[in-house]
This record gives sequence, C-alpha cells and structure tokens, in this order.
Amino acid sequence: MRSSLTAKKFPAEIHAVRTLNAIKKFIMPMAPPVFAMEKSIRATPFRILISVLLSSRTQDPVTEKAAARLFEAAATPEIMVRLSLAQVSRLIYPVGFYRTKARNILAICRTLQQDAKFPSTLEELLALPGIGRKSANLVLALAFSHPAIAVDTHVFRIARRLHWAGGRTAAAVERELMERFPRRFWTQVNQTLVGFGQTICRPVNPKCTECLLKKTCPSSEVTKLRNA
Ligand code: SF4
Repeated sequence: MRSSLTAKKFPAEIHAVRTLNAIKKFIMPMAPPVFAMEKSIRATPFRILISVLLSSRTQDPVTEKAAARLFEAAATPEIMVRLSLAQVSRLIYPVGFYRTKARNILAICRTLQQDAKFPSTLEELLALPGIGRKSANLVLALAFSHPAIAVDTHVFRIARRLHWAGGRTAAAVERELMERFPRRFWTQVNQTLVGFGQTICRPVNPKCTECLLKKTCPSSEVTKLRNA
C-alpha cells in the first residue's frame, strides 16, 4: 500500500511520465542527433565510456565522427593504449578540449588494462580521469541500464523550464528528477530531454509555437504572449 506521501506524489509522477513519453513520441520523427549518437556507440561499455567522455562540450554529430575515427584505429583499450598522445589528439579533433581528452583516454585505457573488472558503479566511474557525475550517470544508464539520470545542460534547462526542478546545480536537479520519476524511467530522462533540447526546447529561442507543450508549459512564450 502506498504511504500518504507517495500517494500525494503519485499524480505528479504520472503527469511527468506521460509528458516524458509524449515528448519522446513528438521528437522521434525529427531524428535528434542524440538518438543516432547513442545508437552508434552502444557496442560495448568501453566504446560507450570513451564516447561519453568525447561528448562533453561537443555537438553529437562531431562526437559521433570522432568516436568512429578513434575506434577504427583502435577498438580495444589494449590497442588504444599503444597510440601516442598526438595520434589520439589527431583522431578525435575537433571535439572540445581534445588534448585533455586524449590524455584522459590514454590514462583510462591504462587503468582498464590493469583492472580485472570494467568499472560499473558510480564510484568506480568517478575515479576515472575526465569522468564527472554527468558522464558517469550516462555510462551507467547506457552501458549497464542502471537507473541513473545524467543532468547535462539540456536536462538542467528543460527540467527547470517545465518546473520539474528548481535547483541551481546539476546535483540538485538530479535529486529532484529522481524524486519525480519512478526509477524505471530514470534512464530515459536524459536521452528524451537532450533530443527535445536539440530540436524544440532549444537554449536560445525555443520553438514554443511548434511545441506540444505550448499550452501547458509554465515557461511557454505562447502563454506569456497571450497573458501579456
Ligand atoms: S513551450 Fe517552449 S519553453 Fe516550454 S517546453 Fe516547449 S519549447 Fe520549451
């Protein structure tokens, strides 16, 4: 039986899940870059980990091409670690911070060679160079289907625009989203909101007039204009 607290929370949960599903259905025909990118990296946990590292502060199509070049040259940590820093940098250019990322990729490959088990917990992933909380959560969700919500700029912005969260930090928004969504939906939040952010709810000039939520979203420019 649900506690009174959970019962109170329940309608908000249902509404959030329905909205998330509706957003996913709505953006699917627009083929957001994140869908193609995530599909292309799903081969192995290693490929997901390195692709996620490359994707930080980089557009998805650029990440996808850089990851393809890198994995064509070296598909496993054992082969990749034999590449020089200059080679890795050249292969992944022009991803953001490519020199630092190249250094971190080689350090990760050395760690993976030494460790018997692939890192599969938040703590183990956070111990790797260049892997922050957002990246670790994304790897957990994509590589291991562990319930986790990766809060990047799209998730942060849209969660606040929809009033699903009000926190001022990614960690605070992550906690609020975990409260709002049942665990089994956590892995879907990032992909759906990133895709939504790439196509409709953009950082600047969101396409509110074309948005499925234009009449209900608390940040809708359409509603604001009507009430002005
Ligand atoms: S109505 Fe505008 S601000 Fe609200 S979710 Fe849609 S695009 Fe974003």
